[in-house]
Amino acid sequence: MQSVYEIKKEICDIGSRIYQKGFVAANDGNISVKVGPNEFYCTPTGVSKGYMTPDMIIKIDANGNKIEGKLNPSSEIKMHMRVYQERPDVNSVVHAHPPIATAFAVCNKPLDLHILPEAILTVGTVPICDYGTPSTMEIPDSLMPYIQKHDAFLLKNHGALTVGNTLTKAFFVMDEVEYFAKISMLAAQIGGIEEIPCSELVKLMDLRKKMQIPGMHPGCQKCDFRNTPKCMCKDNLPAAKACPTASEDLVAEITRKVMAAMCK
Ligand SMILES: [Zn+2]
Repeated sequence: MQSVYEIKKEICDIGSRIYQKGFVAANDGNISVKVGPNEFYCTPTGVSKGYMTPDMIIKIDANGNKIEGKLNPSSEIKMHMRVYQERPDVNSVVHAHPPIATAFAVCNKPLDLHILPEAILTVGTVPICDYGTPSTMEIPDSLMPYIQKHDAFLLKNHGALTVGNTLTKAFFVMDEVEYFAKISMLAAQIGGIEEIPCSELVKLMDLRKKMQIPGMHPGCQKCDFRNTPKCMCKDNLPAAKACPTASEDLVAEITRKVMAAMCK
């Protein structure tokens, strides 16, 4: 179990990483960590996330009200609190403005190509949440259509939000989102993108299950057999168990037909 100091220090370390990686400019971005049902630590407003010290980290309650700390929480903490309300499996939220992912959010283009196994395993696809005025409830509300099926979200004309069972996981998801965006952009420039077929996706989903990767996953958004019993990749994972059933049904059906034909 981490001490309070270690938690605060880790928030500062991740803040420094997102700043060094260019995922946030100036004082942008915010990070939070859940330590109890009504206890959270978060980054302060008006401070660069690259230059934080543990004494700057604030303790807040589930409504985002300050319990402890000399600085004030970000007005964008509302979206973090909404995530914790809706997703009991989440213990950390990272919000940043990574430039290439944010450019996709500006162009209203979700990250929806199945091109990289790592990205498929981590986030699958990344949807775009409707534009909302910062600091209002519009942004938390905009997450709602996607919150139960995704761990990463693009915020229209704004940036990205990622979640995880740990702070490191939430940060790695953010890192993966920007990398996914970068490769999507470069590949589009080169031309001739070849996606990993749905038949291969089911293998990755099985792998995801075996690796016991925590969090939500949207499944394949493009499967030709989506919403039919033939679907091998099934949305809303971890429901990979639904896939073998589908193929078993198919085998049973074929066997039945073959047997029927032989008996004629
Ligand atoms: Zn922001």
